[in-house]
Amino acid sequence: MKTPKRIVVLGSTGSIGTQTLEVASHLGRSFDVVGLSAFLSSEMGRLCEQVREFKPRAVAVQDEKQARLIRGQTGLKRVWSGEEGLVRLAGIEPCDIVVNGISGAAGLAPTLAAIKAGKRLALANKESLVVAGELVMPLVRKHKAEIIPVDSEHSAIFQCLKNEPVRGVKRLILTASGGPFRRVAGHRLRHMTPAHALKHPTWSMGRKITIDSATLMNKGLEIIEAHWLFGLEGGKIDVLIHPQSIIHSMVEFVDGAILAQASLPDMRLPIQYALTYPERMPSPVGTCDLAGIKRLTFHPPNPRKFPCLRLAYEVLRTGGTLPAVLNAANEVAVYAFLEERIGFHEIPRVIARTLRKHRVVAHPGLEDILEADRWARATALSP
Ligand code: NAD
Ligand code: MG
Repeated sequence: MKTPKRIVVLGSTGSIGTQTLEVASHLGRSFDVVGLSAFLSSEMGRLCEQVREFKPRAVAVQDEKQARLIRGQTGLKRVWSGEEGLVRLAGIEPCDIVVNGISGAAGLAPTLAAIKAGKRLALANKESLVVAGELVMPLVRKHKAEIIPVDSEHSAIFQCLKNEPVRGVKRLILTASGGPFRRVAGHRLRHMTPAHALKHPTWSMGRKITIDSATLMNKGLEIIEAHWLFGLEGGKIDVLIHPQSIIHSMVEFVDGAILAQASLPDMRLPIQYALTYPERMPSPVGTCDLAGIKRLTFHPPNPRKFPCLRLAYEVLRTGGTLPAVLNAANEVAVYAFLEERIGFHEIPRVIARTLRKHRVVAHPGLEDILEADRWARATALSP
């Protein structure tokens, strides 16, 4: 029997994290969970259950108080805290695969740590590539690490691109469900509450990404993510609204051929593929009954209704520290909306205003990026 692959699951209590553990359980003895992390106090009960079930070697939490709680409840000794703890867990030995299912720019430090340790990084945390793709990608080559995307669109493109030289690619087509407000008239968006926005038509996900899907900033972040993963300029990355969420993205080649990846909208498939690649294994995801689905439709997004998409293209063109500012301002605006401090229509305005105020640093180092992130968080909601 082959030795099991050892995996660390960062953000194990979230939507990606719990589905990753489900996949690992399904795959049985071929995967061994050696590390888990969670951040919110409300998630500590779930983390304890996961520790009892998966018996990891180490766990990372937000602070020492949580660490004491987990030690007391589970008897596990190696419970680390803070960013330092997360970074330590992301580089733990022995371990083959780090799944990054943390939400937001907080995922950057463990992304860098996993890459520096030469791991396979199964990356759901798109924010780490958005804010620091320029630093992350050369490090992957330097440390002979690998990133296998978990984001469904990027997993689809990764699957379509297998063995294809990138010079043969004409463009990438990212599909988007259109989010909960696809059919809401532009002028009515200002009346949309968090409760409306959290009802996603086809995917069940964490709160932040669900709001990003409603503004289409999720697709904006994914354009930047695709740029770094696949090395294509923004002009060669298009977006199509595809409400059925069956085609998860496509690659058009220079000869006119288009390859697409189709499946039911279920994150367990891209998660499993990132774990088993280059192999495929049976999964709990059901078959996609195309005859039952009948119609697959596609149309371009409305840029006036969803200005976040245009902002993302502009930011990608400028580069430097601007993507970090886009991401941080978006995080601040999304949480302000969730707490009903700003309206839905104000999210793109807050981001655009912050972008305008920023002095871009070209070819930034990590410190420039972290400083831009801090500056944008402090500036985004200031008058
Ligand atoms: P979630 O909110 O459900 O879970 C987030 C996890 O990260 C939790 O375990 C939480 O404890 C942890 N976390 C939150 N803030 C943290 C911090 N500051 N430091 C350390 N840990 C922290 O989020 P999710 O929906 O699972 O999304 C996770 C990532 O995956 C995001 O980057 C998202 O864009 C991406 N993604 C998610 C989906 C999906 O279906 N949920 C699909 C594609 C991509
Ligand atoms: Mg996606």
